[in-house]
Amino acid sequence: MTAKIIDGKAIARTMREEMAEEIARLKQRGIHPGLGVLLVGDDPASCSYVSAKEKACGEAGIHSRQIHLPASAPYDEILAATHDLNSDAAIHGVLVQLPLPDPKMERGVLQAVSPDKDVDGLHPVSAGRLMLGLPAPWPCTPHGILQLLKRSRVKTAGAHVVIVGRSSLVGRPLANLLSMKSEQGNATVTLCHSCTKDIAYHTRQADIVIAAAGRPKLITADMIREGAVVIDVGVNRVEDASAKKGYRLCGDTDFEGLREKASLITPVPGGVGPMTITMLIYNTVQSAAGAWSGGGAHG
Ligand code: NAP
Repeated sequence: MTAKIIDGKAIARTMREEMAEEIARLKQRGIHPGLGVLLVGDDPASCSYVSAKEKACGEAGIHSRQIHLPASAPYDEILAATHDLNSDAAIHGVLVQLPLPDPKMERGVLQAVSPDKDVDGLHPVSAGRLMLGLPAPWPCTPHGILQLLKRSRVKTAGAHVVIVGRSSLVGRPLANLLSMKSEQGNATVTLCHSCTKDIAYHTRQADIVIAAAGRPKLITADMIREGAVVIDVGVNRVEDASAKKGYRLCGDTDFEGLREKASLITPVPGGVGPMTITMLIYNTVQSAAGAWSGGGAHG
């Protein structure tokens, strides 16, 4: 069997076209969706992620405002910048680009984001509401994965999904969403991590394997069953002297090997990545429409 590729770029494009209509409707009502981005320091990867997010917002007709602080900025100054974005009426979504130069500050800064503007879905209020099935912004990467599955007509109801990785950014919220009693949930979920005794034992039983460990080629062909659906979240830089930048991007799966055994698979890049930014735009639009503050639809 040769797997079909789940084309994240194409699915993201379709979703952005759908959102353009909603953005136009909001603008007719005098609402111009806005995203506020807080960047601390000059980490090249963070700078490039922020540029990509702002570019995508611009293309979607969403206004964005950036506050860029030096890596040496003290905690109080970072909090003040977050509050500044929270209180800006033209801003509907506030994003703190992670990692912060001092990771110890992250929890406090994320908690300073107003839950009504928490477009990354990482505030404890958002996480709690998601757990309870209440209206909430869903974290962008897990939500993007649900969209990839839905739009590739992969049924999650009754499926056994094995997720490798339990971070609060990806694995945990994804496990919650997939196990929820809902159209995009109803799956039986196994959550693996670095203390799982025999990961292959679990992944071999899965209808859907989702790799989110940040370990290049962790999931190999012998670890999945014939016809499984594979979603690769990992983005790893692997040294490659033949590449212009001296490295290339590699996922958490052995793509070439799995391709001969899976029924559907996401590539890296071009799978989950484009969906993450798309769901950020989605959450900003939902926030502008008052979806969470007004008690509207979730996700
Ligand atoms: P993270 O916070 O480092 O979490 C990694 C998780 O994987 C942890 O739960 C860890 O277990 C588990 N793990 C690590 N090595 C393992 C192993 N050998 N076997 C089993 N489990 C293992 O990472 P993250 O933020 O969730 O991101 C995961 C990957 O996805 C990274 O490559 C990241 O770059 C990528 N990512 C991509 C996007 C995108 O838009 N494409 C978005 C977010 C993240 P413990 O908890 O036991 O340590």
